[in-house]
Amino acid sequence: MNVADSERTVTSLRASGYEMTDRADQADVILLNTCSVRDRAEQKVFNRFGEIRRKSKSQAVYGVMGCVAQLEGDSFFDRAPYLNFIAGTRATDRIPLLIREIRRGRRRVSDYGEREAGERRDILPGERHAQHVAFIPIVEGCNKFCTYCIVPYSRGRERSRVAWEILEEVRALISNGYQEIQLIGQNVNSYRPKDERGLEGFSGATPFSRLLRAVAATGIPRIKYTTSFPRDFHADIIAAMDEHENLCNWVHLPVQSGSDRVLRAMRRGYTVMDYFKRISYIKHARRRYALTSDLIVGFPGETDEDFEETVKLVERCQYDSLYLFKYSKRPRTPAAKLTDEVPEEKKTVRFRLLEEVQSKIQARIFAGYLDRHLEVLVEGLSAKSKGDLTGHSTCNKVINFPGDSRLVGSILRVKVTAVKSHSLYGSLVS
Ligand code: SF4
Repeated sequence: MNVADSERTVTSLRASGYEMTDRADQADVILLNTCSVRDRAEQKVFNRFGEIRRKSKSQAVYGVMGCVAQLEGDSFFDRAPYLNFIAGTRATDRIPLLIREIRRGRRRVSDYGEREAGERRDILPGERHAQHVAFIPIVEGCNKFCTYCIVPYSRGRERSRVAWEILEEVRALISNGYQEIQLIGQNVNSYRPKDERGLEGFSGATPFSRLLRAVAATGIPRIKYTTSFPRDFHADIIAAMDEHENLCNWVHLPVQSGSDRVLRAMRRGYTVMDYFKRISYIKHARRRYALTSDLIVGFPGETDEDFEETVKLVERCQYDSLYLFKYSKRPRTPAAKLTDEVPEEKKTVRFRLLEEVQSKIQARIFAGYLDRHLEVLVEGLSAKSKGDLTGHSTCNKVINFPGDSRLVGSILRVKVTAVKSHSLYGSLVS
């Protein structure tokens, strides 16, 4: 989402006559986009400004945008007196106006307002983070208020983009040669636009599955989406995916814990049985879907028994990969007030144990790919091995293989010849 916000900001700055540079010594305006999901986010922002200010012009204008900016508010000015402007998460399109105020002589300005009615998300083709894969936000914000999460505070309540505008963006991307789009949002399954124009004639019990069908009908070669929320993940989503080959065979369904007690304390709004029901839609689908998840160990009050439940869940779900996190407090969230914290050493032991369990599952799943042919979107040169290209399969596996750089941007068939712990290696078939 932050990458998508940066693309949008750069587009509006260019429209106001700015040019981009990544050299601090050349910049008249220095803007940091910030993320509050990880630990010690504010400190990282101050450290980064410290490094940049050593190299920058003495008259440079400094600004901060994104989640940390939204959460810290004007107190940021006290802690970073050199800062000139602060733009909240919904103020991306008004950043040129904030800079104009500073240039007119104001010392400090901030904007934490909402997006304006009718605001569109126009991204210049050259400003996307990649040449062949594009992010399309479909929902911003979140209404779930999981007790450990800062997102509903930093990004506000859910707002869905109107469908016809999303479809227009997809069509523009197709004509600019994009091969893959990723529909993004904190919770894409709760997509519920005020205006469903564009979805007429597409079936599905939820607007999200109708949107999937409508996007698939544009003919874009590959569509992925993230992130899903278990309670809002219904069978109609898998039905739509089964119907359309260009809806890629990968589902990311964060579970966070395998214990009902912990899920309740996290206020996730589902039980382990509810989650398994969703998993059964995926496992009993017509196609094989790669399944990935997020999991937090050491949430306050998590007992050995709760953790055992989580291990059992991981063994039962057989994830293709798992993003594991040790719980760490986010100030201002309800969970930050919980006192029954799990000691750091215990979190580490649980983290390692689960990592071990998952690595065995992953090794077995990855070994099953050996000799198989995968359809790969070639995204660039491999940073790790010289002469190799890198890309993702439809099931979201990273795959490297030898090839000519002119193939970047193509979708090719690659035979898997070797398996690594987090990626595959292969050779070109056609
Ligand atoms: S659903 Fe996701 S983004 Fe929303 S509050 Fe829960 S963890 Fe945060």
